[in-house]
Formats: sequence, structure tokens, C-alpha cells
Amino acid sequence: MKNGNSKHVLVAGGAGFLGSHLCDALLSEGAHVIALDNFQTGRKQNIRHLEREPRFDIIDSDVIKPLPARLRSKRVKIDEIFNLACAASPPHYQADPEHTMLTSVVGTHSLLTFAEATGARFFLASTSEIYGDPEVHPQTESYWGNVNPTGPRACYDEGKRAAETLTFDFDRSRRADVRVARIFNTYGPRMRADDGRVVSNVICQALAGDDITVYGDGSQTRSFCYVSDLVDGFMRLMAYDESFPGAVNLGNPLELTVGDLAEKVLAMTGSSSRIVTRPLPVDDPRRRRPDISLAKKLLGWAPRTSLDAGLKATIAWFAENQSDDNKATRNVATLGGAVSAGRV
Ligand code: NAD
Ligand code: UDP
Repeated sequence: MKNGNSKHVLVAGGAGFLGSHLCDALLSEGAHVIALDNFQTGRKQNIRHLEREPRFDIIDSDVIKPLPARLRSKRVKIDEIFNLACAASPPHYQADPEHTMLTSVVGTHSLLTFAEATGARFFLASTSEIYGDPEVHPQTESYWGNVNPTGPRACYDEGKRAAETLTFDFDRSRRADVRVARIFNTYGPRMRADDGRVVSNVICQALAGDDITVYGDGSQTRSFCYVSDLVDGFMRLMAYDESFPGAVNLGNPLELTVGDLAEKVLAMTGSSSRIVTRPLPVDDPRRRRPDISLAKKLLGWAPRTSLDAGLKATIAWFAENQSDDNKATRNVATLGGAVSAGRV
């Protein structure tokens, strides 16, 4: 713990995968942390180890509703607000698209207004999805994106684009001191077994000996960042003390196909699972890789965890956490239709 750090931080979405790791990092730096979460995809077990931590508090609330009175009380001091509230996995954010859109738009507006009232610095967890199915590769922050505004991913992509718009407008009108991270695919311990994203799906399927579902022909690419690297980027960006640098990509530039990821996890787990293909979901981006030059220059940040090391830690975590609802199970969430067997 760093001495003398009496920062008070609000983490919306603090019981989620990334949010709970962020709470841990903030607490280890000596901050007081209030997590606010509606437990839509977040889980009590992600923050159970903090139950007896006097500098940690959790509020069960939805960001699209007015902020709880106890938070708005004049006696509560808030120095920083991280807005991570929003389901991030396609099957989860598409389950209630209206709520997803409102979470990004109404929730971000509410937290920005709270930042204005308290003078707190505001951080938005934006996403590489704002680039849609990118025509520029790798993606730089100056690229405006290629998003279908009416498809099934739009509730998330357009919601986050609107959240960025609100955040930039609060900066332009000097109503809040803001930071925006565009996060690329991140994985690690505390993902849910039924999260539905590719890393958790493939690991849980491999550990259970179930068919590994690859959507499409598996040639689409992603670049996967390990969670501790990403949280380090969050902390550096929030601590960046010059004027607002605009949105900053945070992700690991190592790009691989989804088919290669599945083969790698099969080899690492020694699983006898077969790889099966399913239809490619509508508007699934064909390729994605961050250009992180800006993060390197401004923050001195680059990911340090290799894919092998990150996957090893994540596989070990899923293997050890089989006693609760994170069991490697047949209940992974999937998108797409009927299963067809075959190597990719
Ligand atoms: P997650 O689903 O584990 O976490 C989201 C958290 O927000 C959960 O705890 C959920 O219960 C909470 N939440 C959702 N809607 C809410 C609402 N209306 N009110 C209050 N709480 C709400 O996902 P994650 O991977 O931890 O993502 C965290 C943030 O980072 C999200 O905003 C996501 O869009 C962004 N992001 C994540 C990734 C990634 O690869 N993990 C990539 C890009 C962006
Ligand atoms: N994917 C897959 N099998 C799965 C889950 C996802 O092949 O069981 C694919 C998905 O179609 C996409 C990639 O893996 O091409 C990454 O999907 P994820 O949901 O993890 O993240 P996002 O699509 O939001 O980048």
C-alpha cells in the first residue's frame, strides 16, 4: 500500500470481471473504494474477499436509476469515478438490448453529472467495438469506425459511442475532468463460465471435455490482453495529469485467429474435446488489433503478460474454481445456431 493515499473512488460495475480487479488494485494503493453494481453479470464472489476490508463498500444499484441518496450525501467525498458498468459479452448485452443502451447512455450521463457535482475525475470504459468491423488495421484512435447502427451489436457499440460523445462534451464544456479508455478483448480469472466470450468458453469447454464452439471458419482475429496488464493501463490513464488526451486504446497488439486460439487452449489443457463450428454471429468483426502507440507515448504503458502465461493462469483459475457456479460446465453461453462438427 502506498502511504498517504486517501483517495475516495467510485467504481460502477465494481463486482464484474474487470471492475473487481480494479477494486483490488485501487485498494492495494491505499484508496477507499465504493463499488456500485446491479449484479446483472457481476457476482458477489468476485468481491467476497473484500467483505472485511474497511476501505471497501458495495452498493447494489442500477446506474440507469438515480444514484442512491447515501452516495449523493454531502458527507461522501469522491475523487475519482470509474464507469465500467455495462455487460460486455455479446450474449449478455444482447439479452436486454434496451437496458444495455440505457446503461451506457443514461448511466454515463448520470455519473458524469455526479463527477461535475463532486469535482471527481471521470473514467469511461469504452471499447474497441466503437470501431465496429474495422476497415483500418490496426485500429488507431483517429479512426471513426464502421458500425452497423441497427444490428444486434448496436445496443452495445452505439451505446458506447454515445457514452464517448457525452464524455467528450463534458470535457469540451469543462464540466468534468475526463479520461476514456478504448479496451480491446481482455481475459483472465473471474470471468464467468457462462460469460459467453471466446476465451472463457473455449477454456471451460476444453476442461469439461465438451465440444469447443468456433463461430464461422475461425479465421476472424482478435488480440487478447491479460487482465492485470489492462488494470495497470487504467491506473496510469486515470493518473495522467496533463489535459484530456482524448480516447486511448488499451489492449495487447498480439493478433491471432479464433481457430488458433482454440487449438492453443486444446494443446495447453491436453483436452480431448473436438472443435466444432457454428454460424458466425451477425456483424461479427473480421479482425481487430489495437495500435497502442498513444498509450506507450503518454502513459509508458504496454502489456507485459505473454498469451501463454495469461492463458496458463486463466486455465488454472477455472480448473480450481469448479466448486461454485463457475464450474467448467456445459452451461457456457453461446451465440449462433446448430452445431456442425469439424476441425477449423
Ligand atoms: P462484466 O460484465 O463482467 O462487468 C460489467 C459489470 O457492470 C457487472 O458487474 C455488471 O453487473 C455491471 N452492470 C451492468 N449493467 C449495469 C447497470 N445498469 N448498473 C449497474 N451495474 C451494471 O464485463 P467486464 O468485462 O468486466 O467489462 C467491464 C467494462 O469494460 C464494461 O463497461 C465493458 O463494456 C468494458 N469493456 C470490457 C472489455 C473486455 O474485454 N473485458 C472490452 C471492452 C470494453
Ligand atoms: N467466438 C467463438 N466461439 C465462442 C465465442 C466467441 O468462435 O464460443 C468468436 C466470436 O464470434 C468472435 C470472437 O470469438 O469472432 C471473439 O468473441 P467474444 O465474444 O469473445 O468478443 P467480441 O466478439 O466482442 O470481440
